Amino acid sequence: MAKAVNNMGMSIVEPHERIRFLSNYGNMIEVDANMPVTRYYRSGTEMVRMANVYLEEGNHENAFILYMKYMTLFIEKIRTHPEYSKIKSEVKILNKRIKDEIMPTTEKLRAKLLDRYQKEYEQFLANKEAEKARELERERQKRRAAVSAGGSTSGSYIPTNLHVQIDPNMQPSAPDLGLLDKVVYPNDFPTSTNRLPSSGLLLPGDFDKDSKPPSYDRSQKPQYERSDSLLAGSLRTVMIPGNTMEVFLQLAHNNTKKNIETCGILAGHLAQNRLFITHIIIPKQQGTPDSCNTMNEEEIFDVQDQKNLITLGWIHTHPSQTAFLSSVDLHTHCSYQMMMPEAIAIVCAPKYQTTGFFILTPNYGLDYIAQCRQTGFHPHPIEPRLFMEAQHIQLESQRKIEVVDLRR
Ligand SMILES: [Zn+2]
Ligand SMILES: [Zn+2]
Repeated sequence: MAKAVNNMGMSIVEPHERIRFLSNYGNMIEVDANMPVTRYYRSGTEMVRMANVYLEEGNHENAFILYMKYMTLFIEKIRTHPEYSKIKSEVKILNKRIKDEIMPTTEKLRAKLLDRYQKEYEQFLANKEAEKARELERERQKRRAAVSAGGSTSGSYIPTNLHVQIDPNMQPSAPDLGLLDKVVYPNDFPTSTNRLPSSGLLLPGDFDKDSKPPSYDRSQKPQYERSDSLLAGSLRTVMIPGNTMEVFLQLAHNNTKKNIETCGILAGHLAQNRLFITHIIIPKQQGTPDSCNTMNEEEIFDVQDQKNLITLGWIHTHPSQTAFLSSVDLHTHCSYQMMMPEAIAIVCAPKYQTTGFFILTPNYGLDYIAQCRQTGFHPHPIEPRLFMEAQHIQLESQRKIEVVDLRR
């Protein structure tokens, strides 16, 4: 099998091989029996939300990966969950949606991608051919130099038998991906005005009413950057409005005075492969000096569905302690990060006037906590570290957070 790697070091150039690689990547989703099965249904909703954004923005690879993940999860993997039998009616609705909407879209995407990969492959082969010709020419020059060393020198040498026209500025062996990425397929896929028919379950009918997808100037940027591929495996940047902590501390003030914790959900949207936190949702809750339990999760989901928001993490106060993640916090955060690898935990410690932005260490802490069966406060080994400061966040001083307070 002819295989080659492009300048990103990730994509296989042979077209069918690349599609297979994408599909396999999309199939990589595991169901954890200890996670409530309803979480997977929530996560599926958000997966489709993100896939739709990627589709609209022309990032067909990422859209394809997420639709594949969604289908793998709900056609196959979810059956292994012990609570699967409890959600039969939802399964039927989902299966219909998969059959009617997701599957045909995914197949269309597969064809589009194959077509694009084919073009890239041809470009790649042409470049290779050109490089070969250049190599021949270099050898010829060397031979000529050796022959004429000491003898008379001729003027500039003109190659006579080059079949491929060579652009001296062209990068050898790297397909001209930038150019091909600008290929636009305008009306093949639904846009915000021409959307997937809604099943009513995942895309509410009033989808467009209060939350418009973020607007940006398409002429300013190529459709997407190569590094925007989910295949890169790196965390997407989470953008946090600069006043988030200040606003949250005000909402928490009354509790903080009484030495009681407050918590909120961080939600937002995907745009240009970045995750924008736009809302703090404060659920009904019960706090103590070192814990906080959310109640009425359904209310949170209703808000998110109305506003088309995906879950990007959570925020809570430590009224009298420093900013860190307690053992209970680690377990709470684990379920966020399992569903969304970029999910962050913000801890505000007003007494010490510090803020922590944390994630479980992706290579160790996440698995460790997912396997830990203890509940309540309990000790964990200190080394290797289970959590770390998030490196994939960016504060935006100009942007303001919005609040949905469900406590009253
Ligand atoms: Zn805490
Ligand atoms: Zn534990």
